[in-house]
Amino acid sequence: MTQPTKKNIAILGSTGSIGKQALDIVKANPDKLQVEVLSAENNADLLIQQAIEFSPNAVVIGNEEKYLYVKEALLTHDIKVYTGADALCQVVQMDSIHMVLAAIVGFAGLRSTLAAIEAGKQIALANKETLVVAGALVTEAAKAKGVNIYPVDSEHSAIFQCLAGEFHNKIEKIILTASGGPFRGKDAAFLKTVKKETALKHPNWSMGAKITIDSATLMNKGLEIIEAAWLFALKAEQIEVVIHPQSIIHSLVQFEDGSIKAQLGLPDMKLPIQYALFYPNRVHSSFKRFDFASYPSLTFEKPDFTVFPAIQLAFDAMKKGGNLPCILNAANEVAVHAFLKDEIGFTDIPAIVEKCMDKGTFTAKPTLSDYMESDKETRALASEFCKSKISA
Ligand code: NDP
Ligand code: MG
Repeated sequence: MTQPTKKNIAILGSTGSIGKQALDIVKANPDKLQVEVLSAENNADLLIQQAIEFSPNAVVIGNEEKYLYVKEALLTHDIKVYTGADALCQVVQMDSIHMVLAAIVGFAGLRSTLAAIEAGKQIALANKETLVVAGALVTEAAKAKGVNIYPVDSEHSAIFQCLAGEFHNKIEKIILTASGGPFRGKDAAFLKTVKKETALKHPNWSMGAKITIDSATLMNKGLEIIEAAWLFALKAEQIEVVIHPQSIIHSLVQFEDGSIKAQLGLPDMKLPIQYALFYPNRVHSSFKRFDFASYPSLTFEKPDFTVFPAIQLAFDAMKKGGNLPCILNAANEVAVHAFLKDEIGFTDIPAIVEKCMDKGTFTAKPTLSDYMESDKETRALASEFCKSKISA
């Protein structure tokens, strides 16, 4: 019997929530996966620890001030050490890499994902902001290079799993499920009083800080609408959001005959990460199994677009297109960061996004450098709005 060859993967953002869970999957499948590259921005100690455990070919530490520290620590190991965003873009293009798991958070993940696509690497995409900001550019580059983008985001993985064997059939619509976050059912007055400590407590998922706040404002669902549109070539009218507080149904697809397919499971990101890494194969896992008796009722509600305006903002950005989703994303990143530093209130986040969408410079057909410029301009604008706490 021939030995199956290992898949060599680069994990960008290996010290994050997705990155660490991906490494758990590698650990459980040592005969199938080999880590070629690991990357972090600041967390040098964890990166060093991961490098020693998984023996990658190379590691990249984003923060240049930490380069010597990482280099020294790995001196006796046969592991190359690089630093900076440019180095990351080069390292992901190494011949030995088969697949890149894009798990950096935010706009910062765009360039390295594009560089990997340019080099023809298959992509497992967690970094949804890449598609939100530059969906047209990214999907065109992927098409030109024959690169598949496998979704890691649980909702998009659910849709992708529902589409197995159905790719020739037209999608009537998709239904993205949302837990509703920690403030489901609360009113606008309550949201004004919210502090980061409660906003960071997600009822069902344990994730990085930025996406946890996005889940509380429902901006995460807004970003996911745009992500889904690019991944599955859908129009805004074909995307619906339903609040499903138990997070058991991860999303649904409705076909032209009216039939709906759903994918279910306990809320555990390891499953969608593993599905993307091994597609089209399903690999045995020891993840906890779903039990109907523990969930006697699965419930559904309409999202409240007035109390949580983020979904509507995302629909608006998507419909107008151009660089508007880029503006929405940059403003949101700045506002979430400011909220996490107690500089603005919770309801200031969507208010600042809306202001930036109104005031930012619109470009109908942006190039990569236009996106870079728009991101920069919006960050400056959003920082100004943060200082004046516009909705206070
Ligand atoms: P985390 O904040 O936990 O991790 C982010 C990772 O990116 C870390 O390794 C971090 O390094 C690195 N990083 C941060 N900033 C930069 C930068 N400027 N340049 C290079 N690397 C950087 O995020 P998550 O793992 O939660 O999320 C990652 C992505 O996956 C996001 O786009 C998120 O929306 C998406 N996603 C996450 C889910 C989850 O369950 N967590 C679910 C679905 C999607 P360091 O540790 O050194 O700061
Ligand atoms: Mg999701």
